[in-house]
Amino acid sequence: MEKNIFQRIIDREIPATIEYEDNEIIAIRDIAPSAPVHVLIIPKRAITSINATAEADVEIIGRVFLVARDLAKKFGINESGYRVTTNINSDGGQTVPHLHFHLLGGQPLGRMNSAQTSGHGTASPYRGILREAGILILCAIGLAIGFNMMNSKSLSWVKKEYEKVTASTSDLDKYLTTPTAPATQPQEAAQNTTPSSEVAETTKTDTTTTSAAKPTPASEKPTFVAEPGVVKEITYDQFSRLMASAPYYLIDARGSDKYAEGHIGNAVNFYGAEAQARIPDMLSNVPRDRVILIYCDGGECELSHHVADVLKQFGYGPIFIFTGGWAEWKTKH
Ligand code: AMP
Repeated sequence: MEKNIFQRIIDREIPATIEYEDNEIIAIRDIAPSAPVHVLIIPKRAITSINATAEADVEIIGRVFLVARDLAKKFGINESGYRVTTNINSDGGQTVPHLHFHLLGGQPLGRMNSAQTSGHGTASPYRGILREAGILILCAIGLAIGFNMMNSKSLSWVKKEYEKVTASTSDLDKYLTTPTAPATQPQEAAQNTTPSSEVAETTKTDTTTTSAAKPTPASEKPTFVAEPGVVKEITYDQFSRLMASAPYYLIDARGSDKYAEGHIGNAVNFYGAEAQARIPDMLSNVPRDRVILIYCDGGECELSHHVADVLKQFGYGPIFIFTGGWAEWKTKH
């Protein structure tokens, strides 16, 4: 009998993004996520669905829920909420005949109103054909998405339109130690070679700044005012001022090759095109008590917006995108 897709993933015949694995269970990222967090928790034992379970499977199914609990915590959705569900046969929407549980979260999921099938009891003769055609199309899309995901220069399937809001001067004042001071030089030299593992968080004042940079008295500690979900675009001057006197965490959203060639200060590299795939990494590294600054090449700032969008979904903020990006920074340093 031909192996199903999950069996082939378990046997390492095709790749998957593995979030958890032990002798009995594997959890992978869903290739076509229905929510910001969509993980499939799959018992390795060959069970087609709940219909085929036996007494001997009770423990493993119980453990699936413990894995779901731990993954929900890992993805930071245990408090906001999530859903664990399994589909059985065609009316249940099961497409892969290997028992698996969907862990979904990261956004409000709505009520479970799954009775959305139209024409219930009035089966059309074309229904089977349509279903098979649908499955074929889904497989083709799945393959295309898989290929795209495996490609290091992967494309976005749908160009997401981001709301672009420009920060005003007063938007920044609350984060600055010396709100009325003129723009100062940022604290780090331009093309630094800081290793990516180094954490980009600081509030220190640069000892090499120009005379415009006032030393910060100990009593004037920068404060952090959380604004979950706020994403605004900033200019070079605003970026420089935040870097000089706000508690910040700097993210370079360009690809790792460009980052390795040179980056701003102590930026940490999270490639925008991989933002969704790196959610756990970001959640465990990006602090919540800092202003988040992001840049990429400049211009449309797509990559920066991808990163900002993920962080926004998980309640980070304020997040500022430096629209001049590396291109403008390089001309000035
Ligand atoms: P179900 O419809 O409940 O059988 O769920 C099957 C799930 O498997 C769907 O959400 C698919 O998107 C997902 N899926 C199919 N192929 C892969 C794959 N190669 N890697 C990860 N997820 C997959």
